[in-house]
Amino acid sequence: MKHKILTTISGSLPKPNWLAEPEKLWSPWLLEGEELIKGKKEAIKLAVNNQLNSGLSIIGDGEQTRQHFVTTFIEHLSGVDFKNKKTVRIRNRYDAKVPVVIDNISREKSVFVEDAKYVRSLTNLPIKYTLPGPMTMVDTLYDDYYKSREKLAEKFAEVLNKEAKELVDAGVDYIQFDEPAFNVFFDEVKDWGINILEKAASNLKAKTIVHICYGYGIEANINWKNSLGEEWRQYENVFPLLKKSKIDQVSLECQNSRVPMNLIELLRGKKILVGAIDVASKKVETPEQVADILRQATKYAEPQNILGCTNCGLVTFSQEIANAKMQSLALGAKILNQELGFE
Ligand SMILES: [Zn+2]
Repeated sequence: MKHKILTTISGSLPKPNWLAEPEKLWSPWLLEGEELIKGKKEAIKLAVNNQLNSGLSIIGDGEQTRQHFVTTFIEHLSGVDFKNKKTVRIRNRYDAKVPVVIDNISREKSVFVEDAKYVRSLTNLPIKYTLPGPMTMVDTLYDDYYKSREKLAEKFAEVLNKEAKELVDAGVDYIQFDEPAFNVFFDEVKDWGINILEKAASNLKAKTIVHICYGYGIEANINWKNSLGEEWRQYENVFPLLKKSKIDQVSLECQNSRVPMNLIELLRGKKILVGAIDVASKKVETPEQVADILRQATKYAEPQNILGCTNCGLVTFSQEIANAKMQSLALGAKILNQELGFE
């Protein structure tokens, strides 16, 4: 076997209904104390098993121990006030009550390292961990201390890098930074976003990924997508910069999106996690539909640089739908691997 198109999910999976109310974003925990700790561990095991049974090749924790992809990490940092929240506009799209930076940011202890060790103990396949990207973190807070988005992002990059190094020491093979903000703040991406992301990802003995999507299928995002016109060309601003960056891989949204596939040509040489599963529709893609998206991608990138992925997280689905979508992802990649003589 020379190459193989590998498969993975972008990050989140549904939580079991005894841990948090299912099919909801940012759903609060239904357990407390020791029960919650035990419950989260059980949920990780289930998430790992579901990925293994679906036939995926790079395994994650399904983000079972986080309520929100950004704030759960921030909750573990000092310098942030979670009691007196302020309302800000997230990615220029919707208002949310967010925590306030009131002092110097620091990370007193690891956030996800124990979870990562547990995932490592459950499988011999490569494992991936997701962390929020520095710019997206800045955009999910009110800053009353640094008074500069760039300085605050730099501080976050420092703590993210420490966390990422510990995750790699725990046996993590891929570190992914989620930066949906890269699809919105193009000037900042150019001025400092890529640089600071590289700092978060520096000197890691793991493959590094940046995930840039158009968000979960919530109303504010769907309205935003509808305003973007016939062709979504946001990636055109960011990909040339990422191509020159030290980030190894880029995860993007393709299935049922209006992103012209030829934009991935701007990433020539990088590995590309092609989003072949829609996260805004409950309709399960067929393996052939997955294969078709991956096949289209091979026109603009070397097949050995393609990975099959989801557009974004699957947390808003039922377990059944998420499992069916993961199975289609694995089977779709298999179709293409056979076509290409990769397996
Ligand atoms: Zn996403």
